[in-house]
Amino acid sequence: MSDTEVKFEDMEKFEIVQRFSNWKELLKPSAEMRKGFYSYAASLKDQEYLNLPFPREWSPLDDDWKLPPNWKEIIINKMDELRKKYRSFQVFMDICVRCGACADKCHYYIGTGDPKNMPVVRAELLRSIYRKYFTKTGKVFGEYAGARELTEDVIKEWYIYYFQCSECRRCSVFCPYGIDTAEITMLARELLNSIGISQRFTLTSAAACVRTGNHLGLNPGGVVNSIQYAVDDIKEITGIDVEVPVNKKGADILFVTPSGDYFAQPHWFTFIGYLMIFHELDLDYTMSTYAAEGGNFGFFHSFEVAKKINQKIYKEAKRLGVKWILGGECGHMWRVKHQYMATFVDDTYEDALKSLEEPVNPITGTKFENASSTKMVHILEFLADILKHKKLKIDKSRNDHLRVTHHDSCNIARGMGLFEEPRYVIKSVCNYYYDMPDHSIREKSYCCGSGAGLLADELFELRMRGGMPRAMAVKYVHERYGVNHVTAACAIDRAAIPTLLQYWKLPVQMGGVTELVANAMIMSGEKERDTDLRGNPLGEYLEVEV
Ligand code: SF4
Ligand code: SF4
Repeated sequence: MSDTEVKFEDMEKFEIVQRFSNWKELLKPSAEMRKGFYSYAASLKDQEYLNLPFPREWSPLDDDWKLPPNWKEIIINKMDELRKKYRSFQVFMDICVRCGACADKCHYYIGTGDPKNMPVVRAELLRSIYRKYFTKTGKVFGEYAGARELTEDVIKEWYIYYFQCSECRRCSVFCPYGIDTAEITMLARELLNSIGISQRFTLTSAAACVRTGNHLGLNPGGVVNSIQYAVDDIKEITGIDVEVPVNKKGADILFVTPSGDYFAQPHWFTFIGYLMIFHELDLDYTMSTYAAEGGNFGFFHSFEVAKKINQKIYKEAKRLGVKWILGGECGHMWRVKHQYMATFVDDTYEDALKSLEEPVNPITGTKFENASSTKMVHILEFLADILKHKKLKIDKSRNDHLRVTHHDSCNIARGMGLFEEPRYVIKSVCNYYYDMPDHSIREKSYCCGSGAGLLADELFELRMRGGMPRAMAVKYVHERYGVNHVTAACAIDRAAIPTLLQYWKLPVQMGGVTELVANAMIMSGEKERDTDLRGNPLGEYLEVEV
């Protein structure tokens, strides 16, 4: 052996510390509130506004969570109601064989190393209670059958770990039985809500949406002002006066986008991109100050709140008398519409849905048959169709300063199967596009780490750890191909990923897909342009500062 060769025994010893020595240990509730890993409690004001059960001031840090006296009975009864109502719940509780195929597929497990973030264990936190109260083996053999008593510490543990799941569904792709842990998380949150336990960030957004029509609580004047700022920016960039119809009755299309697009960065460039493209196409559309929000934070809280929020877009579409709805680059708007509409639509707005027509693109004549039940078309389906029919004048070289990759947002990729459209649109307007590694895109896409209410400030450490697999995939294409721009068609991604890139020190910027289309589009009568929408000079490779 030469002097330079390293002997195995000289290498640093790696120690694997087993946190739980056996399955019984794992089932003992972990109720410690660690900074960066637990969510703040919902405010009393929001709980009362949404008429939630047992509204009160409480804190996860208190020993006493002021649960209602019969909280145990409420949970067991609610669980019984849910397992009878949702066949999937009963099936997911019964059929897991603990094969472990999902175990290492959750980004929160990868980022934290906490075994309770393995999807199989996350589900077991609820399944163990189900076994105890609803199965014979659980009742007779107790913990030997993987069953455990429902205690206050179990409730605290649920609150921690079901708000460490972004409901992204990545684990379900790898489960041979198709068990959807995201749905188990939703039901656990529903159970927590039944005894007055809700997360602040989710509920603040949901209450604002019920009150004003958008998560940010913008009043109609605020929405109109924001649109006016966008019109001014477009004039400055292109020299063109763009008119944006608001609350216009009888237009063909109602355009709805996430409220983050109205002011946040880098959402803003996607927002002005929509308005530039609609102007250039001379589209007969309107925006609305009432339905100025695509997302539905109620979906991350409970069935009732989700249902309440879902109706507003349809009621507004009927009031304005449009034919169909075009939706912007939003994530959970599309998950709700594509996966849960059948249960969310009731007689309060079924007529509104029926008043709409099967969407037809007025510019190309394409029928969107896939949208015949929802009457809603995604902006990327719309743009792919527009570009395929060459209805916009495009100069791809205007994006030559960018090397682009695309993050498949969980809700539109796994939630609605939109894998090809974003890539088709980007490649139609950019010369340099590079996919991230296969295991991190399309149906296997890694979550940004901030969905389902986890964008909350207090969860910063969890988000940066959970977002690590996505950040590392971006790092790979940055180092290999010089990627300096990542796109995502979801407002939560546009809020979460820039911070993630900064945290992991990656010189890469991010934005929506529509922004790139607007960069490359040559508008009729535009002034000479030497910058992109952000003011970056065209041509030379863009060095992004970390
Ligand atoms: S749904 Fe996503 S966040 Fe939740 S357990 Fe599965 S992989 Fe993890
Ligand atoms: S992959 Fe499916 S069956 Fe296997 S442990 Fe995970 S949830 Fe259970």
